[in-house]
Amino acid sequence: MSVRDLPPARELTEYQRRGWSCVWCHAVLDATRAVDLGQQRVKPDEGAAYSWFPRACADKAGCAERETAK
Ligand SMILES: [Zn+2]
Repeated sequence: MSVRDLPPARELTEYQRRGWSCVWCHAVLDATRAVDLGQQRVKPDEGAAYSWFPRACADKAGCAERETAK
């Protein structure tokens, strides 16, 4: 299984950083449809370091389709 580099947290929405929506295609996720990508640690140029919790669609084909359709 290949692991894609995650997009920078600053380019993501609050929903994506909290794992409420897919980090790739923005689809709203629930526990049955989400893959946990693990806790990420960010040290921004300004402000305090923080953690974020990306999740992605379990349905990778559908996810890639939605991402391209954007
Ligand atoms: Zn997705």
